[in-house]
Amino acid sequence: MPDVKEESAMFDYHVHTSFSADSKLPMDVACQAAIDKGVTEIAFTEHLDYFYPNCPLTFEFDYHDYARTVDELRKRFGDHLHILKAVEIGLHPSVKSRNEQFVRDHQFDFIIGSVHIADDLDLHNGDYFKGKQLDQALHLYFETVYHCVRDNPYFHVLGHLDLIKRYVHYLKADHTCIDWRRYDHLIAETLKELINTGRGIEINMSGYRYKLNCALPELPVIKLYRQLGGEIITIGSDAHHQAHIAHHFEQAYHLLVEVGFKYITVYREGQPRFISVGETRKPNERGTKR
Ligand SMILES: [Zn+2]
Ligand SMILES: [Zn+2]
Repeated sequence: MPDVKEESAMFDYHVHTSFSADSKLPMDVACQAAIDKGVTEIAFTEHLDYFYPNCPLTFEFDYHDYARTVDELRKRFGDHLHILKAVEIGLHPSVKSRNEQFVRDHQFDFIIGSVHIADDLDLHNGDYFKGKQLDQALHLYFETVYHCVRDNPYFHVLGHLDLIKRYVHYLKADHTCIDWRRYDHLIAETLKELINTGRGIEINMSGYRYKLNCALPELPVIKLYRQLGGEIITIGSDAHHQAHIAHHFEQAYHLLVEVGFKYITVYREGQPRFISVGETRKPNERGTKR
């Protein structure tokens, strides 16, 4: 049974604002845009990537400034929008203790753990793919994700499990032509590790924005997660701009229903709660002003 009953709820659990180095979105603008789209709960998951080589941006933020801003906006928008203090933490072996210290020292409702770097190289700028064959690049990526999940227990949900799909174009590959089942054994180990430690996955809808025409992870991985006993699942747009908030959430809800999830997960001070999918709002991409 669900722990929380909320009529017509919609949750975007992955949004970046100007506290993230790669977003200019003011947090108050994000709140208003979310409300206009019918979002009832939003997690501002700002980037914290202590290890991010060969990049001019610094993916760190001032927690106190962030928390103060969230507190102010909770007062301003609280009647319409529940705002979570959250973070998207970049996982890398060299910064494990710094990450642990950061989450110990600060209070978050929700923590995403994400792999943006593998083999000490950036996926986003393509450095990771230089000198690698496709199969080698994919194998090493999924192995890295598994090790990061196993060795970093302090987050709640693994971000965009197959993020590498966004970037295989660096090897002139088309993600729809790749036999992803070759990596199922590594993905299954990752999912089992998450399930056995009370953590979950997100359905990250940025794949649509990146013209992949799919969520991250895709349907077969979400199915595998469910088959293995996975229950904790959140939905996030990974918005860096107000137009992207709750983007393609209709597809996300279809995916959940198709796979057979009856509940989606929300968090309160780090504790998961389950809400019946039937009680969630049918997303309206054009916006529902309230
Ligand atoms: Zn990310
Ligand atoms: Zn993100």
